[in-house]
Amino acid sequence: MHTHSSETIWEVEESLRQFGRCPIEELYNRGIPGPCTVVAHCVWLDDREIELLARSGTSVAHCPCSNMKLSSGPARVITRRKGITVGLGSDCEKENNNLDLLEEMKFASLLQMVSTLDPTTGDPWDILTMATLEGARALGLDVVTGSLEVGKQADIVTCCEDLAPAFPRDQPGKDGQPDPIGGLIAAPGDLAAQHRVLVPQRQHLRVFRPAAAQHGSRLLDQIPDQRGDDRQ
Ligand SMILES: [Zn+2]
Repeated sequence: MHTHSSETIWEVEESLRQFGRCPIEELYNRGIPGPCTVVAHCVWLDDREIELLARSGTSVAHCPCSNMKLSSGPARVITRRKGITVGLGSDCEKENNNLDLLEEMKFASLLQMVSTLDPTTGDPWDILTMATLEGARALGLDVVTGSLEVGKQADIVTCCEDLAPAFPRDQPGKDGQPDPIGGLIAAPGDLAAQHRVLVPQRQHLRVFRPAAAQHGSRLLDQIPDQRGDDRQ
């Protein structure tokens, strides 16, 4: 089940007026939150509502561009995660004006920084996880996608930093070393032009399959048998 809730102060006040409860409490009272439910926004939550989301296994779709454009506010649930699965969402066209999740990553990071007045928040790796694995988990798809692992689908986005004049190659990470994910999140617009489907319907568009198979088997021969090594 998917719904949008606790987006504005007005919505909270109206829920209190009509039902005597905050929006998430009212949803909980009606049996809506649960492991198969994703709630967009969750901007104006009190501690009890965050607890209800965590306890019920409900996931959240964080929509920073929409929250900024509509002046809703920064989502409180982001800084008080409490184990809640939080994926990134774009809300809708009129609330956002595009559905670009790479851009959404940048705004998710910046919104955290400005709302906490702390430039060390909005961690790029945390934002990337929200845009990938956490988003997949929110939809119950984390067993098949969301991270590059053996057995999962190989959905890969490659980005060419040469096409992004403002790509900050020296963007420092937590350890002070250049962090490519920090650069990706800071300069998504130019990089987004690199999206291209390479394998639709199991048909490689840019790879000659027999040659690729030959090359792949040559590479496999060079890889030691990990299971065999472990047993020794
Ligand atoms: Zn919405």
